[in-house]
Amino acid sequence: MLSGLDDVCRLWYTSGAAFSAHSMGLIIRWSCMNDIVGNSAAAADERYIVKAIDQAYIAEANGDVPIGCVIVYEDRVIAKAYNQREQLNDPTAHAEIIALTQAAEFVGSWRLAGCTVYVTLEPCPMCAGALVLARIDRLVYGCDDPKTGGCKSLYNIVQDARLNHRVEVASGVLADKCSRQLQEFFQRRRG
Ligand code: ZN
Repeated sequence: MLSGLDDVCRLWYTSGAAFSAHSMGLIIRWSCMNDIVGNSAAAADERYIVKAIDQAYIAEANGDVPIGCVIVYEDRVIAKAYNQREQLNDPTAHAEIIALTQAAEFVGSWRLAGCTVYVTLEPCPMCAGALVLARIDRLVYGCDDPKTGGCKSLYNIVQDARLNHRVEVASGVLADKCSRQLQEFFQRRRG
């Protein structure tokens, strides 16, 4: 009788242990999956910021401050642009504004829900306002702009609760690379 109870206990412990081991396996597998998904999302962000950096080099070649932007919709680049302020002699010809116009043309609507904007530098107040107006889902940018940043540094227009739309923001993606590109441009211009 006692040994029978003992057996039941042993069975219960064994199955309990087996269950725990199984659960742990699931938890480990689940957290690994989360890491993989998280890592691949971060890798995609970096990949698109690299494309924005490539655009910024075109601005630089034209004598404009190197700032580049790409817009992604359903995992494809639907707009790419660079700062053209000097080239077009237009104070509003920022990379983001030009890219938003291209993206709206692609989507066939001024509402750019589902789009992510990748830009090398923190958007200024004008561009931050345009991102809100365009109902952009997500903004990913490289380095902060302590002098004119409108998404964190001076203002946070894209997440202002008083406005009718808020944008999810990821900042600091390849920040060193983005700020180095700007620093080198200004150093060369001074030298
Ligand atoms: Zn701007």
